[in-house]
Amino acid sequence: MIPASGPYHLANVRVHQSLTSDLAAAYDSDGFALADIAVADVKISSIVAHRQSNTPAGAVDLGGRIVMPCFVDCHTHIDKGHIWPRNPNPDGTFMGALNATGADRAARWSADDVARRMDFSLRSAYAHGTRALRTHLDSVAPQEEISWPVFETMREKWRGRIELQAACLLGVEGVRDTKWFERLAKRVAAAKGVLGVVTYMVPDLEELLDQVFAQAIKHGLDLDFHADETDAVSAISLKKIAEAALWNGFDGNILVGHCCSLARQPDLDALDTLDKVAKAGLAVVSLPMCNLYLQDRRGDGTTPRWRGVTLLHEMKARGIPVAVASDNTRDPFYAYGDLDMLEVYRMATRILHFDHPVGDWPQAVTSTPAKVMRLDGFGTLAAGGAADFIVFKGRNWTELLSRPESDRIVVREGRAIERQLPDYAELDELMVK
Ligand SMILES: [Zn+2]
Repeated sequence: MIPASGPYHLANVRVHQSLTSDLAAAYDSDGFALADIAVADVKISSIVAHRQSNTPAGAVDLGGRIVMPCFVDCHTHIDKGHIWPRNPNPDGTFMGALNATGADRAARWSADDVARRMDFSLRSAYAHGTRALRTHLDSVAPQEEISWPVFETMREKWRGRIELQAACLLGVEGVRDTKWFERLAKRVAAAKGVLGVVTYMVPDLEELLDQVFAQAIKHGLDLDFHADETDAVSAISLKKIAEAALWNGFDGNILVGHCCSLARQPDLDALDTLDKVAKAGLAVVSLPMCNLYLQDRRGDGTTPRWRGVTLLHEMKARGIPVAVASDNTRDPFYAYGDLDMLEVYRMATRILHFDHPVGDWPQAVTSTPAKVMRLDGFGTLAAGGAADFIVFKGRNWTELLSRPESDRIVVREGRAIERQLPDYAELDELMVK
């Protein structure tokens, strides 16, 4: 369907208003318009409203299929991915995940083990249509010495296919060892990474956050937090991060993930926090699949009563950039998942009500995370931009989001890629207990 060589013209494709710039077209109530896309070399040479009379001879008619820019997945853990068979979560709880992963890391995460699982994950993401991905890297000593070099090698190996970023990951208490934390910040800076910490309520949280911001400023790093991944109403580290950003005068990018407890707090408290988050210029990423899995897990045979996700609609209403992302895949934090951002978007639509109207929610898996990751031109369809897009079977939202779209076509640099998902059996020898 996509020509294997030469320039070509795709006629009668459906594009979404939130994902196209500079297209003067009549958008329907779902935000879609019919367009023609011309591709020359590795770029989109033009994108114009579709008119049957103007379609050039030889154009490929796509019959109104949806075309979206390739996905940007801004919060993953591909260093943890796929360890489930050898170290499952015994009870599906957050503590179960933490303990099982810690034991697996200490015993099994050699450079070879991490590299092979990372590469497996990246092949899945690429086949599903992801163009850029940020992973967190467990950086508790001595793992940082093992995983960061693996990441640097993997980033080179995947350059041109997936733009790979990494953020360090450690509990905020680890910042108390100031000498070690400074060394870690230097290591992250040397790898052009992002400084990341998991925040929860400890007595010296404000002092520790000041240390984190001081190191980020000193080394010119962006920040990426895991915050308040709990149902505890008392968990207000998101607010503390916003306050610390303001009083430290931080002007880098800050992404905060999870923020689950916010959805359990009284409205006035939550909205006061969101005003601070907006003022401080924070972006927020929700991880709907992982949150649905871990949050409100009761372990007493009773049924979960809430969805685990944070207040994305209220955030967006305040102008806070909001994204959704994959988070964990087949590890103790989430038993499932394959880094398929269409699945994430489909699940987010259902869990977070990204519909009626859809509005500009598609930006949550494309242009918004691209901006947070400082990736110019990613996540939109535009003349002069990269010919990196996905052609789906679906012609409207209900068709797109009702099936897995396993037969989607992923176009990279103007050509349809081979969409081969790696075979699980490849990892069998790493999974021997
Ligand atoms: Zn995470």
